[in-house]
This record gives sequence, C-alpha cells and structure tokens, in this order.
Amino acid sequence: MLIVKKFGGTSVADKERIFNVARRCIEDYKKGNEIVVVLSAMGKQTDVLLAQARDINPNASKRELDMLLTTGEQISVSLMAMALDSLGVPAVSLNAYQVAMHTTSVYGNARLKRIDTERIRNELQNKRIVLVTGFQGVNKYDDYTTLGRGGSDTTAVALAAALHADACEIYTDVDGVFTADPRIVKTSKKLDEITYDEMLELASLGAGVLHNRSVEMAKKYGVQLVVRSSLNTTEGTIVKEEVKMEKMLVSGVACDKNTARIAVIGLEDQPGVAFKLFNHLAKHNVNVDIILQSVGRDGTKDISFTVKEDDLDEAVAILERHQEGSLKCQKIDVEREVAKVSIVGAGMMSNAGVAAKMFEALYDVGVNIKMISTSEIRVTVLIDEIHVEKAMNAVHEKFLLSQL
Ligand code: ASP
Ligand code: MG
Repeated sequence: MLIVKKFGGTSVADKERIFNVARRCIEDYKKGNEIVVVLSAMGKQTDVLLAQARDINPNASKRELDMLLTTGEQISVSLMAMALDSLGVPAVSLNAYQVAMHTTSVYGNARLKRIDTERIRNELQNKRIVLVTGFQGVNKYDDYTTLGRGGSDTTAVALAAALHADACEIYTDVDGVFTADPRIVKTSKKLDEITYDEMLELASLGAGVLHNRSVEMAKKYGVQLVVRSSLNTTEGTIVKEEVKMEKMLVSGVACDKNTARIAVIGLEDQPGVAFKLFNHLAKHNVNVDIILQSVGRDGTKDISFTVKEDDLDEAVAILERHQEGSLKCQKIDVEREVAKVSIVGAGMMSNAGVAAKMFEALYDVGVNIKMISTSEIRVTVLIDEIHVEKAMNAVHEKFLLSQL
C-alpha cells in the first residue's frame, strides 16, 4: 500500500513528538508499505515567523513572507529525516521545489495546479520514507508560494490524489471530527464517519480540523481521508462520499469567532449599488460571507455583510476610499464582537423545520440572532460573541444529544 500521512504542527512540536511520529511511520513502513509523509511547521513556528516579519516590516511583501514561511516546513521535514535515519530507516526530505509542486502565482494563498511525482516515486522505489514539506508550492516565476494557513492538509490530499495513494491519513492533536468543539461543548462526541459535503461546510465554518480546500480536493478526486490523533491509537473519523450509518439530521455544530460585521448605511436604492460595493472588495480578494440587504426606504438602503475579522481593517479601508465617490453611502458601521454558529447535516435536506428548531434552541437561552444564512445542509446564525458557548451548547443539546 502507498500511504500518505500528514502530521500537523502540534504533532511535531518537539523532539519527543518528532520521534513519536517517526516511530508511527516506521510501524507502517515495516509492514511493507510505501510511506509519504507531509509535515507542517513545528508547533507555532509559522506564527513566530509572521511575528518576526511584522517586527521588521509590517508591510512586508507577500513574496518575501512566503519565502520566510516556507522555511518552517523545511525544518520539520529535515529533522524528521534525521530522526528516521537515527532509528535505522532510510528517509529523504523534499521541499516543494524539489518535488516540483506547481501552484498559481498568488503569494500567501496559492492553489496547487500540478505535482510531479517522478522524484517521489524514485525515492519510494529506493525504499525510502519520503518527507514532503506541507503548505508550500512553486509558481511560474520559480518563487515559493504558500497555500494559506492550515494548507498542509491540502498538500497531503493533493499528493494522495497525484500518487493514487491507497490511504490518506491526517494526524492531528484531537481524536477526529467531533459533533462540536469539545473545549466548548463538553458532551460532544467523535463521529465515526462524515461526508465530504458536511466536512466541507464544517471546515469552512472554522471547525479547524481540516483546511477546507483539502476537503474540496478530496471530494473532487475521491480521496478517502481519515482524521485521527497522532498521540493515541484511537480510530479516527473517515471522511468520504456517502456514510453507511443512517443519516443524522445534524452531524455537527460549529462556531467561527473570526468574524466581523460591516454595515454600509444609506446607500442609494438603485441598480448597480451591490455590484460596486462587492466588486471593490473582490478586487482586493476580500471574501464576503453572509449578506443582508434592507428593504429600501426614502430612496436609500443598507447592506450589511460579514468578513473574516482578519480582513476587517482592509475591507473598511477599501470602502472608506470609495465612500464619497462611487459608493455614496452615509455611514460605515463595524462590529467585531460577533460570531457565527452553524449546524451542518446531510439529513437536513429532506427534513423541514430544522432551522426553526435551531432558532428555538437559541430563543430558549435568550440569544438574539443578528443575521441568518442557509445552504442545503447548513444553517448559520450570526450572534454576539459573548453568547457563543451558551448558544453552541443549547443547539448541540437540541439536535445531537438525542442522536448520539
Ligand atoms: N504551518 C502552516 C500554518 O500554520 C501550514 C499548516 O500547518 O498546515 O498555517
Ligand atoms: Mg491544521
């Protein structure tokens, strides 16, 4: 079997953990499997590098940031190769350039386009464990790029697809995918299985277990994933197209505190206004999430929407630049202390009343809803951030406690 294993930052945070990972890889290697290992930067290394960059130059170019950030993963893979070697197992570390992982040219948020597999295949044939840097690629200018925070998962899935791997295992510091973040909801349980679509919604909602593009890619190429702990041998959660067990109405509750709301007040109530507003943001790659437009009155209307809190300052600056000119709005209001709480479940599609049940749970604990958005398998509400814990627990209890 060819197995792609990915270990996150916490799983390789120090010497002891590095050897723990090395031993787990050796176990499968000794059974006669071919092993490709994708690693993230050690512990919080990526954050440390970003802080160093900010300290030197708060406006550092994205090209140089990527040049810097890619060193983090390079440290992990080379140290891991040394650890394996010291345990008597042949290994080789490769960075994105050496493998040839081609990406689009957008620094800081590149997408993988093509992976050459020849070098990896040769190394596997020579009976080596192959260690590959996660999170990075090379663009058409021969520059390093990165895939966005958490992007090592995507590297692993892309490699599994390119190599037609028999298994893709994502190792992390939790036992799998939970019905809710166990730090917030004490009664949450690990799921044995979840569909790509559900996982995709949960990942985009900030459930934090998997990079959402990795799930997109897994779905597209039919790569079955296992999310499991690097710290114990508990069976993890399988992510795949269809789940065997009877579809649960709701399989997870997620929250995302990295959310802010912008309200653009007193816009002209005429065609093209929404286009101009969101086009300004799109041009700067600012992603917008829930959008709400008020009913027009006295020739004006308001449009409010959510963005990632990280993008808030940039979004507001862009809008303020156009406030007098093309936007002609009276006021731009900002709210930071908001969060999204969502329920996700494939079973929702065929069941009416799921949203109402969620709203009831929130009403029961006195939480006000500021915005609502839905998809076929998801209901999201925007609430005040201070109520997240209470809301998550109430919603989890309403839907999941009876199902688990
Ligand atoms: N080291 C990168 C990050 O922290 C990539 C990853 O961990 O997946 O975002
Ligand atoms: Mg991650």
